[in-house]
Amino acid sequence: MADEKKKTPCPTCMGKKVIDGICETSGEWRGKTEDGQVCTPDQTCPTCKGKGYVNS
Ligand SMILES: [Zn+2]
Repeated sequence: MADEKKKTPCPTCMGKKVIDGICETSGEWRGKTEDGQVCTPDQTCPTCKGKGYVNS
């Protein structure tokens, strides 16, 4: 057996290491923001912790 470590691209971030921020619009936020839109910032992928791959 070859002693190689398999690294699988993270399925959560697709190897990008970060999760893209998502903008959503909801009436709930109207008044909290100018246009009722709330965006989450890009964040380090919690699945691979920013490595872009996971050990399998
Ligand atoms: Zn990831």
